[in-house]
Amino acid sequence: MTSSAKRSCGDCTLCCKVMAIEALAKPVNAWCSHCQPGRGCAIYAARPTECEDFACLWLVNDLLDECWKPSRSKLVVTTSEDGVEIRCDPGSPNAWRKEPYAGDIHAWAVEGETNDMTVVVIIGRRMILVTPDREFDLGIVGPDERIVRELEGTKVVSATVVKENELGRG
Ligand code: SF4
Ligand code: SF4
Repeated sequence: MTSSAKRSCGDCTLCCKVMAIEALAKPVNAWCSHCQPGRGCAIYAARPTECEDFACLWLVNDLLDECWKPSRSKLVVTTSEDGVEIRCDPGSPNAWRKEPYAGDIHAWAVEGETNDMTVVVIIGRRMILVTPDREFDLGIVGPDERIVRELEGTKVVSATVVKENELGRG
């Protein structure tokens, strides 16, 4: 957790649940043992660098409407090398299907199709690639696996999961 000049985490602690913290061997979707849900981090001054450096998109980007605050939306949005990732609070796995979130996610997918940017919803370790026309439910995707898309022009026509060390083999 951190804070931006304009927004602050306030009562939100959702990243301390949905994100993995390697330094603490904390898995995804389990509360960090140092988290006081709704109040903050009990070891704030000594929290790992990973935590110190982390900021969800709502915190740092005013373009994300106030309703996207993770404690309210139950969704933590981050950017990845490939695009946008939306992690659901496992207690609200369908939060991303509600409005206005579903509409915004669809709009990002439309934008992503022209900009070669992926939009991925993550529920636990299950990943769903969202495109303007359809969803590709990829099931459980491990940390050593990657999503490979097949494109026709800019349109995604298939998506598969491959081991990272198999990428480029052919
Ligand atoms: S999810 Fe975002 S707003 Fe919530 S505690 Fe983490 S960084 Fe702060
Ligand atoms: S150490 Fe603190 S900031 Fe980091 S995940 Fe745990 S509670 Fe959150």
